[in-house]
Amino acid sequence: MSQQPIVLITGGGRGIGAATARLFAQNGYHVAVNYLSNHQAANALVEELRKMGANAIAIQADVAVESQVARLFDKVIEQFGVPTVLVNNAGVLHQQSRMDQISAERFQQVLLANTMSCFLCAKQAVLKMSTRYGGRGGAIINVSSGAALSGSPNEYVDYAASKGAMDTLTRGLALEVAQEGIRVNGVRPGLIYTEMHASGGEPERVERLQHKIPLGRGGEAHEVAQAIFWLASENASFVTGKFIDTTGGL
Ligand code: NAP
Repeated sequence: MSQQPIVLITGGGRGIGAATARLFAQNGYHVAVNYLSNHQAANALVEELRKMGANAIAIQADVAVESQVARLFDKVIEQFGVPTVLVNNAGVLHQQSRMDQISAERFQQVLLANTMSCFLCAKQAVLKMSTRYGGRGGAIINVSSGAALSGSPNEYVDYAASKGAMDTLTRGLALEVAQEGIRVNGVRPGLIYTEMHASGGEPERVERLQHKIPLGRGGEAHEVAQAIFWLASENASFVTGKFIDTTGGL
């Protein structure tokens, strides 16, 4: 197995995950890109990363399902070795609405996709990375959201709650594994130009709200990737259980 650093990025085929994959590839990582259903985007990205000279693979798995997460890690380990960095980036949001119009089923789906996925992947990563279990350590970065702090009223309280739970998990897990060679941190993006806003029913959401952002514009996926990469790097060797808000000052 190679000694090159290895990153696994969940939901890495598009948006922030894809920008993160490019940045890690540029910096000499083997890159495993997980995706749910958009084969085209994930495969096109892997092609692009390989053209850059990186070792890259795309792996389909629903990271909200425990057996699929186990299979995902097995495939990464088989191809590259144990990941040195896990980026829990996969996430969904649904149609904007008031909380009293959100069904219990939808609430559960959002928690599964955003929070359970983070728990399942982080658990696998700890079992493989932790020095307690013979691993070599590593870094976990959880991609949360500014919504964890704002609550996203009248848009998606379910999504905001799922990200709040993710932040609490980040803090607790960071303290549990702090002496086992693993740092765990979070990035909270806000109003980034990706396709995610179309899932909420408003593709132009960033344009509508950008006047509220102190820096006066929406953010780009590569700007979030920089925060993720820094937290994963040795430059952040004394940082754990903390968060970077990539929100333009919001
Ligand atoms: P995006 O463009 O909609 O991409 C989401 C990615 O997640 C896709 O690659 C999708 O896979 C994947 N995914 C969703 N559910 C999955 C599952 N169950 N298993 C595996 N993969 C799954 O979103 P984005 O804007 O880049 O968001 C990335 C992260 O940043 C999310 O956690 C999001 O909550 C967070 N965030 C984004 C913003 C923003 O303004 N964009 C703000 C705050 C936080 P497919 O490609 O196969 O569909």
